[in-house]
Amino acid sequence: MATLEIKNLHVEIEDEERKTKREILKGVNLVMKTGEIHAIMGPNGTGKSTLSQTIMGQKNYHVTQGDILLNDESILDMPVDQRARKGLFLAMQYPAEIPGVTNAEFLRSAINARRSEDNQISVMDFLKELDKNLEILDMSQSMTERYLNEGFSGGEKKRNEILQLLMIKPNFALLDEIDSGLDIDALKVVSKGVNSMRGSDFGALIITHYQRLLNYIKPDVVHVMMGGRIVKTGAADLAVKLENEGYAGLRDELGLDI
Ligand code: ADP
Ligand code: MG
Ligand code: MG
Repeated sequence: MATLEIKNLHVEIEDEERKTKREILKGVNLVMKTGEIHAIMGPNGTGKSTLSQTIMGQKNYHVTQGDILLNDESILDMPVDQRARKGLFLAMQYPAEIPGVTNAEFLRSAINARRSEDNQISVMDFLKELDKNLEILDMSQSMTERYLNEGFSGGEKKRNEILQLLMIKPNFALLDEIDSGLDIDALKVVSKGVNSMRGSDFGALIITHYQRLLNYIKPDVVHVMMGGRIVKTGAADLAVKLENEGYAGLRDELGLDI
């Protein structure tokens, strides 16, 4: 079993144009274990993507207080690729395009980067695994020969993030709005992909605005983030309650002024 622990995390973002810094996360606490699926909901601009980018170690996100522990070891000083090798994966809200690198090449090097030199995946095994996962996600072979995310539609990008997830098999996946811009069929496919990963070696943190996704991927724990903090944690029914009563209802209930 692996654990990911966020302790009193404070994060500032640098605005490169204005040369200013602003505190976005104001003391986030969260503990997850493999075998569990957690969801984070919250209004726009509250810091959900900031949290996922900071866990992954993206630049411009400065931790000013607190810690992020993976199996009791601080990962704050590790660069993104080292965190990935340790088992973390981020499906970004806005996946980047990488012209000149095909999807298949990217996947193979991402898998091999996480393996030792004498244990690289063979071409045969890679293609077998790729075929299996393309079928789960109802994706065509031709998608893998295209340059990474270049000219992909919004829905194709999301599906492709999940293909990466299935191929890379991380211990912890941070899935940032994998449901945005998906029609109901694509949503089902993406959910099926995530659900196929469920097991004792896998945990996920699903960031979403909408309860809809959580009908397909049942979370064990739901957190609500507002104003850069987790203000409430509950079971799957918390998401339903939020959908019905909105964030305003929760603000009133908790007496929050944010
Ligand atoms: P959410 O994902 O909950 O919608 P974000 O984490 O994307 O929220 O954003 C939190 C706040 O940080 C917002 O006010 C947003 O404008 C600001 N922000 C996010 N990313 C950047 C950035 N790269 N540079 C400057 N401000 C940013
Ligand atoms: Mg947002
Ligand atoms: Mg976001």
